[in-house]
Amino acid sequence: MYYEIMDTSPERIFAFLPKLSLADKALINHACEFAKKAHEGQLRKSGEPYYNHVFATGINLAKLKMDADTIAAGIMHDVLEDTQVTEQEMTEAFGEHITKLVQGVTKLGKLRYSGLERHVESLRKFFVAAADDIRVVVIKLCDRLHNIQTLEYVDKEKQKRIALETIELHARLADRLGMGRLKAELEDAAFPYVYPEEYKKTVELFNSMQPISDDQLDKVVAKLQDDLSVFDVQIERIDSRIKHLYSLWKKLQRYGMDIDKIYDVIALRIIVDSVSDCYQALGVIHGLYRPIPGRFKDYIAIPKANGYKSLHTTIFTGDGATLEIQIRTKKMHEEAEFGIASHLSYKEIGKNLSEQELKRKTGWTKELLEWQKDVSHHAEFLKNLQADFFQNRVFVFTPKGDVIDLPEGSTPIDFAYALHSQIGERTAGAKVNGKLVPLDTKLNNRDIIEIDVKETAMPKRKWLDFTKTTLAKRKIRQYIRENGGFLDKFLTR
Ligand code: MN
Repeated sequence: MYYEIMDTSPERIFAFLPKLSLADKALINHACEFAKKAHEGQLRKSGEPYYNHVFATGINLAKLKMDADTIAAGIMHDVLEDTQVTEQEMTEAFGEHITKLVQGVTKLGKLRYSGLERHVESLRKFFVAAADDIRVVVIKLCDRLHNIQTLEYVDKEKQKRIALETIELHARLADRLGMGRLKAELEDAAFPYVYPEEYKKTVELFNSMQPISDDQLDKVVAKLQDDLSVFDVQIERIDSRIKHLYSLWKKLQRYGMDIDKIYDVIALRIIVDSVSDCYQALGVIHGLYRPIPGRFKDYIAIPKANGYKSLHTTIFTGDGATLEIQIRTKKMHEEAEFGIASHLSYKEIGKNLSEQELKRKTGWTKELLEWQKDVSHHAEFLKNLQADFFQNRVFVFTPKGDVIDLPEGSTPIDFAYALHSQIGERTAGAKVNGKLVPLDTKLNNRDIIEIDVKETAMPKRKWLDFTKTTLAKRKIRQYIRENGGFLDKFLTR
């Protein structure tokens, strides 16, 4: 199998952390040598040395600017689980602190997304780890990022499960921790494996549109730079950002797959010095360009639940295009990109890291744990988790206990098509929790669905009125189209 030769010299890690001390460099070097030796002879599915994976995890942590201890632990994160090295040997070489981080990652173990109960168990493990030391979770997420980016080498049957797990578990956690960039990277790497058709469609739609030309964009940037400096707004820089594919698809679903209704496919990001500069910049922009009514959002005054702060507005550029502009301080930007990691970073850790800030940021994990201790009732814990994590999704079961994940409002028809299009097409009736129900019944979390399949059954046009998933709708339409006008007479009944 072909893989790219990876440069695994520690210098690559140091390059992300210009302020590392000599002692920290020595520590990271030591961890690299230790892990390399421990994994000697082990290969990844791609055929490359196993060490490449743990080194890449270290790189991911360095990109988040984590402290040297965390990077060292990240490089050694699979040593206790997958090699002969013992905890005692690691403690002797690296001390208790780093060993504890590695143990934490090991304890999180190999998470599985198969069945809701076990899924909740995985989340619970994450909360325990997070409440203990949030850095363990950050290491695990960086580990997962490399695994998902090398998913092409994994067996076909496993790919989808791992990718779904990444979207439903790891990316949601990254989001909850405010780590916007990591979340997006996890989702975009997993997207083509979980929803291949939707992925293709999203890429097509993306390529088909041209919301604003490079020329128009350059003109706006130049004009803004001039005017903001005239008004004495201190600009750090102006970037443009392209919406990540997975989040674009999520949004497309909410807007009937109409890309023309999505204003932030490309957005301009203005990074300024201070909060007052944010509002001043906004004033200048609204003075220069007409804003689209109803598109202004002040996430500085009212931050998002995960702590995200920015001003958002969408303007008419005056030559036919519209453009979203996001205004934020450098600090807000770092927090939006790196989230919790920006508070654990090399430059902040040890240097009066604000306990309070950290508590506020990770408080929810502890709260959830505490709350779970009080309420021994499993169902209620589940409900709370779902409210928090699985908004807009329902998790239902086949009679055999396989979990199927559907959008809220889905019906037995959506379920049948999710199993297989041939089951969908032959659906004659459905039972939910053992009771016969109409086919337009909305499914609830943890329902067990049984589909009654008949050879003579076929899709009805009216199913389109109540199915929720694009998959089911598409298959029903396709069936009607392919079976032509003759059948149509029967289908409309
Ligand atoms: Mn690993």
